[in-house]
Amino acid sequence: MADFDLAIIGSGSGNSLVTADFDGKRVAVIERGAFGGTCLNVGCIPTKMYVYAADVAATVRHAARFGIDARLEGVRWRDIRDRVFDRIDPISAGGQAYRTNGENTTTFLGHAEFTGPKSLRISTGDQISADQIVIAAGGRPMVPDVVAQSGVGFHTSDTIMRLDELPERLVILGGGYISAEFAHVFSALGSQVSVVARGTRLLRHLDSEISERFTQLAATRWDLHLGVEATKFSGDHRGVRLDFTDGSSAEGDVLLVATGRIPNTDRLGLAAAGIHTLYDGRVKVDCYGRTNVEGVWAVGDVSSDFQLKHVANHEARVLAHNLAHPEDLREFDHRFVPAAVFTDPQIASVGYTEDEVRAARLNYVTATQAYGDTAYGWAMEDQSGICKLIADADTGLLLGAHLMGYQSSNLIQPLIQAMCFGQRVPELARGQYWIHPALMEVVENALLKLDLPAR
Ligand SMILES: Cc1cc2nc3c(=O)[nH]c(=O)nc-3n(C[C@H](O)[C@H](O)[C@H](O)COP(=O)(O)OP(=O)(O)OC[C@H]3O[C@@H](n4cnc5c(N)ncnc54)[C@H](O)[C@@H]3O)c2cc1C
Repeated sequence: MADFDLAIIGSGSGNSLVTADFDGKRVAVIERGAFGGTCLNVGCIPTKMYVYAADVAATVRHAARFGIDARLEGVRWRDIRDRVFDRIDPISAGGQAYRTNGENTTTFLGHAEFTGPKSLRISTGDQISADQIVIAAGGRPMVPDVVAQSGVGFHTSDTIMRLDELPERLVILGGGYISAEFAHVFSALGSQVSVVARGTRLLRHLDSEISERFTQLAATRWDLHLGVEATKFSGDHRGVRLDFTDGSSAEGDVLLVATGRIPNTDRLGLAAAGIHTLYDGRVKVDCYGRTNVEGVWAVGDVSSDFQLKHVANHEARVLAHNLAHPEDLREFDHRFVPAAVFTDPQIASVGYTEDEVRAARLNYVTATQAYGDTAYGWAMEDQSGICKLIADADTGLLLGAHLMGYQSSNLIQPLIQAMCFGQRVPELARGQYWIHPALMEVVENALLKLDLPAR
């Protein structure tokens, strides 16, 4: 049995744990799928490359309102697809080659399973042991039994981006962020999109005002089936049909199942190592990334409360330090975690929703600024963008920020910064210049509208 100083299960965020601290030591990286993990191969990066292409198509379609007559002559799906994967696939292959040929790294391309607290069996036939093991195994799409057992062909986010043809009609099961992003991509590129969700609103995890406004907008673009369950899935090689509890149905050439993700812990042999999990199968870790078994750590989607790459990256940075400095452990910082949905319009949020501050009986104020009521919003003819802020009426600190509109994933950054560094709203609003007439005036105006004492 080969022995290592460190073994890492998963080459997504796990790959960045091989820092200079491990120079001269023996590190094993075990990966059963595409090297580089979800974000690079089937997540953040390819989806956003598609979203950008979709945004370009949408801009052309809507150019007439600016007095510019343009026609979308066509969408070359295969070229769009190949632009994405011709960029990504070599990066994945290069990462794998780098680790495989690394001075102190050994790559195992197979599925790892614990056989004891410090030992792993790999589907390549190898058995290894390591002084420290990091579980960075991420998650995968959850496919409800009713779909899996229906015999109907379907795609998940892992496969849909590699289609050979743009479907004429796409049915998406699920009302979360992955659904919202793909609905935008496919509809902007020309597919008719139906979205099916059990809830009555899309993106229900967001501030309810944003979620409601987004659902209203979505209803003007996509065929929404909300508050329903699919009772029957039928179809053949030509397409699918879903029948719903309310008697309605949806048909499409392709079905995308986007009903959430589950952690990759079920086939890891955690019981053999005595590693504890949480109610939903995630590995249980403390604030340093330690599991209950000495020398076994976990990081990213497989254990985190947040299924976000920037959180997985942060946790990996902290863990990289902790692995090498057990006498000086650092904590994960999960206080102000922002998230964005790259749909149309973009959505970005950080902190509490209004429902949460109300439930917590905090003394709070809110302010909402429409993009369309600022100079740049006039330039854009924007009719839907908003910036909603929630602040503590006693301390003047921001409690939450919820933006929906063009580039909101960028506009939100000064608000995240203020929350992280404890900057009060009056200083943030008036302690600096805001470039006129930049779109950022949306944020400035929302801050100024918050009814707070200046000091
Ligand atoms: C469609 C989509 C869009 C997304 N968009 C965004 C976004 O815009 N912004 C954002 O912040 N986040 C986004 N995410 C989430 C983001 O991709 C994840 O939070 C992030 O990639 C998690 O990283 P990780 O290192 O924890 O896991 P992963 O990157 O999933 O890495 C885990 C690796 O472990 C491997 N593995 C699992 N089990 C084993 C085993 N037993 N043996 C060997 N190898 C194993 C897997 O093959 C995988 O490569 C998106 C996700 C999806 C699916």
